Amino acid sequence: MWFTGPPFLSHSHHLKLETETFTLVDPAQDTEIRPQVTTSSTTSKGKELGSECFCRFSSWNTLTRALACLIHVAHLFKQKRDSQLDLCKGWHLCKELNLVHDFKKARTVTIQNVQKETFAKEIQSILEKEGMPNDSPLRALDPFIDENGLLRVGGRLRNADLGPEEKNPIIVPGHHYIATLIVRHYHIQSQHQGRHITEGAVRSAGYWITGGKRYMSSLIFKYVICKKLRNTCETQKMADLPPDRLRTDPPFTHIGLDVFGPWTVCSRRTRGGSADSKRWAVLFTCLNIRAIHIEVIESMDTSSFINSFRRFLLYVVKSKLSDLIVVPTSLEHAVNLESLPTLTMKR
Ligand SMILES: [Zn+2]
Ligand SMILES: [Zn+2]
Repeated sequence: MWFTGPPFLSHSHHLKLETETFTLVDPAQDTEIRPQVTTSSTTSKGKELGSECFCRFSSWNTLTRALACLIHVAHLFKQKRDSQLDLCKGWHLCKELNLVHDFKKARTVTIQNVQKETFAKEIQSILEKEGMPNDSPLRALDPFIDENGLLRVGGRLRNADLGPEEKNPIIVPGHHYIATLIVRHYHIQSQHQGRHITEGAVRSAGYWITGGKRYMSSLIFKYVICKKLRNTCETQKMADLPPDRLRTDPPFTHIGLDVFGPWTVCSRRTRGGSADSKRWAVLFTCLNIRAIHIEVIESMDTSSFINSFRRFLLYVVKSKLSDLIVVPTSLEHAVNLESLPTLTMKR
């Protein structure tokens, strides 16, 4: 039963559902039967493209390419049939698009649409040659409308030796989705640099994003790749301290040791010079109070080390402790602690 399950599962004919149909008694009188009414409504806007559709794109380049294709097809429908090329007819994904001219046109159309939606009041007041509304965020920018119908920053750089794009950048509303696409595009182009470099890349491309600084910081902060690049190195959680380091024993009861060096020292004076030789040092550290004891050795061989260790025992351990030393077995034999009159071993 546990392995095969209930028997009806293995016989497919049991699973067939029997469907029975019942005729309605009196549909007109039956209150349970309700007629289903569907109403559909279609809202049509003006001639504007509408910037809601821009939210469907995830990058500035794909949006530009799609709009360039759309503009290309729209022009084809406007032209007379005789003048159409064989390659370009009706709805098609055109491969003959001009990357500079058509893309620039697409960007102009995109930003025009966004500006008309967001800054309608400001554009109206500029066209009517009135002053900027007091509550307008563009009041300090001295905006004007260029020959393509784009709202640009007026500023005070007319006499600067800069390109027209940098002197009078196009105004892009910071809270619009299109600002996200532009910032993301130039942030990736600048290899995920910080806010200052991204801001510079956006400015030199000819865009002025209102409230851009805070917006760029928040975007970079949220970006997954930036988070990965700017994150601090993770560290391993350290284990508990060993009991030897936590006992309140006298100093040098538990020790650690290491050898460091070499240093070149002048061993003897010769005629007109000196004979140099190398010296190393053995560092003994107490595990409890971090006290240290250093012994100098003349070479890196075993006998030098054993000598230094014996000196350490005599100087430090013998004076401080008389009966508590922890030494590995191999060292015990080598040092021959039994020969020391007052020391006894405890392991
Ligand atoms: Zn085409
Ligand atoms: Zn990034």
